[in-house]
Amino acid sequence: MKKIFKSIFHFLIVLFLTITTQIGGIVYLICFVFFRRKKRKIRLLIFMLSYSFVSLFLVPKIAPLFGREKIKNTELIKANSFIYILANRNYVVPELNTVLDKVSKKLHERYNGIQLVYLDANFPFLDGFPLLPHLSHNDGEKIDLSLVYKDEKGLTNKKPSISGYGVFEGPKKGEFDQISVCKNKRKWQYDFPKHLTFGRINKNIEFSKKGTKSLIQLIVQQRKIGKLFIEPHLKSRLQLVNKKIRYHGCQAVRHDDHIHLQLY
Ligand SMILES: [Zn+2]
Repeated sequence: MKKIFKSIFHFLIVLFLTITTQIGGIVYLICFVFFRRKKRKIRLLIFMLSYSFVSLFLVPKIAPLFGREKIKNTELIKANSFIYILANRNYVVPELNTVLDKVSKKLHERYNGIQLVYLDANFPFLDGFPLLPHLSHNDGEKIDLSLVYKDEKGLTNKKPSISGYGVFEGPKKGEFDQISVCKNKRKWQYDFPKHLTFGRINKNIEFSKKGTKSLIQLIVQQRKIGKLFIEPHLKSRLQLVNKKIRYHGCQAVRHDDHIHLQLY
């Protein structure tokens, strides 16, 4: 009986690591097979070191053979949290890397020092393997970016939550409230990112209309970008007119805490 519980426990760990990092489950299994006679603490340490090595050094070298590459972090492009990098959630096809580079430079030209801050992109391998909870982030062509915020000194690179998700710029009085429409249709997942903030930070910052509008305009000007998702109330508040800017439907999650963009 004890053996069965142990097997279920290990299976659940492999499943969790595969869902959250794609390669973590395999690394765990290999460590378990090779070092199963070692003490649990030693095994955990071996796993953590092996995982970090594979994730930070090996995968970035192998992924290009399968058509994806790590997002090139620069002075102007960065992940909102190191977790996105450690969990291999920062892979895109080369064309998307080029687009990000161009947009970040143009944004910097317009607002000196303002960075392109990304959240979830895609895993390094296998078309069709979704990066949950984003079902569509499964081909290297999708990425989520943070909105732009301001503090008392002007535009800032600070964001309102640790994950970058879950602090919403909701509809104001008089604006169309798509969120209530979806909630009334019992689409419980629409609002779910409010549980994914991992903590609220930088309470002194607020949404920048000017900065976010510029960022979106620079993105949709890129020929290779096919679609950009944002909530309807923000689209009208920012007076954005472009056929690439679409509404994603109630089956997705709300997009007033981040922007989703994709190629073609
Ligand atoms: Zn997305």
